[in-house]
Amino acid sequence: MSDCIFCKIIDGQIPSKKVYENEDIIAFEDIHPAAPVHVLVVPKKHIDSLESLNPDNVEIVGKIHMAIREVAKNKGINTDGYRVIVNCGKNGGQTVPHLHYHVLGGAVFNEKII
Ligand code: 5GP
Ligand code: ZN
Repeated sequence: MSDCIFCKIIDGQIPSKKVYENEDIIAFEDIHPAAPVHVLVVPKKHIDSLESLNPDNVEIVGKIHMAIREVAKNKGINTDGYRVIVNCGKNGGQTVPHLHYHVLGGAVFNEKII
């Protein structure tokens, strides 16, 4: 998608600090980190949000989860643990309309909202 920030990062038009990459997925540091470790794990193919998943593209979700584990290992947070957040749509607080998973680590997340 031509006007999508994350598609531009994937294309290399916007620089990013890459943490992990494979054929389907890229992971890079969030520009405004909310924790000592804050990485965004993103499918290379543009998908607007979790609400845009369907039987034809849902396979990417498993791949994202496996990529999250690689990111956690690379960043040294796999043993102590981490939090994964997906914001979806306006009420979910999604600001970039390209599906992405926030991986947060290096701190203890005590707030329980569920
Ligand atoms: P959302 O609010 O959509 O769940 O998360 C979007 C995230 O993308 C935010 O945490 C924001 O800091 C991050 N972000 C927005 N623009 C850029 C950018 O140009 N580069 C990087 N690395 N992160 C960005
Ligand atoms: Zn995109």
